[in-house]
Amino acid sequence: MHIDATPALAGPTQDDPGVYRTLLESTRAIPWKIDWDSMRFAYIGPQIEGVLGWSQASWQTVGDWADRIHEEDRQRTVDFCVAQSQQGVDHEADYRALTADGDYAWIRDVVHVKRRADGSVDCLVGFMFDITERKHAEDKILQLQKELETLSYTDPLTGIANRRMFDRILDVEWSKARATGEPLSLVSLDIDFFKQYNDSYGHPQGDLCLKEVAGLLGDTAARTRDLCARLGGEEFVMLLPATHEAAAHGIALRFMRLLARAAIPHRNSKVADVVTVSIGVATIVPRAQDQPGVLADLADARLYRAKTGGRNRIIAAD
Ligand code: GH3
Ligand code: MG
Ligand code: MG
Repeated sequence: MHIDATPALAGPTQDDPGVYRTLLESTRAIPWKIDWDSMRFAYIGPQIEGVLGWSQASWQTVGDWADRIHEEDRQRTVDFCVAQSQQGVDHEADYRALTADGDYAWIRDVVHVKRRADGSVDCLVGFMFDITERKHAEDKILQLQKELETLSYTDPLTGIANRRMFDRILDVEWSKARATGEPLSLVSLDIDFFKQYNDSYGHPQGDLCLKEVAGLLGDTAARTRDLCARLGGEEFVMLLPATHEAAAHGIALRFMRLLARAAIPHRNSKVADVVTVSIGVATIVPRAQDQPGVLADLADARLYRAKTGGRNRIIAAD
């Protein structure tokens, strides 16, 4: 395809200002002009009435514009636009403008600052765009993203945090503990003979048991920063920030007692006639060179020893 270097565009000329007016007043963007010295509108497109409901004639001063900005957006919008204009900088501002019927519309104002030969500001010219639909669509997307985020960090069966959340929080707590020098504890637990539980009572009853255990974990680790998570299957953890070894051991014991009190029947367990767990407890004050994985590895190793040592017990030290 051949393109001319200088295409001969036959545009409107100085001689037919009517063409400009027609163009300006037929676009969906609303043109306007403000005289800087008087702070009055020299012009605003008639389309404004269609968007906000206020008549063209009702836009007289900068005050009319400011008064029709949503209260929550007014100060920052006016301050920003005045500061940019004083510095002679072209700018854009998004804000909610009040409509005549008491609602509001999202407006994007695109502002060009016209200066005189001596550099002083002569006038502002710009376009207002109605971006309400776009903003609402963006809000909806943000809302959906939030919901998705919540869902993707939650275990759907028990409603507590999942492994993904645990990994994330562990990273954060690890860094905090490294900075403060406080101990970080992890209680890892696994239900004993849970395969037999399912075999004896059925998978749906197994699900109910997992939910009950998750609920008891929540009752056990009660501090705000404590995190209970289901890592998968019948394996759970409690991450306990700023908790010493002895305190973590105490919390593991408290869970054991709550579970014993709940007395969930388990006729095919080899260690009791109720549901029991094996627990590994680990506590670390992270050093600069340590990775968060060492805490989980240590707790898992102790959990394994609790299993091989006979189950239904807590191992909290080597
Ligand atoms: P151990 O005492 O050595 O821990 O033995 P266990 O039977 O508890 O361990 P194992 O790993 O052999 O079996 C775990 C069982 O957990 C098998 C699996 O069907 C069951 N399970 C895993 N996820 C779920 C779930 O979401 N719901 C139910 N009902 N069962 C599950
Ligand atoms: Mg198990
Ligand atoms: Mg298991």
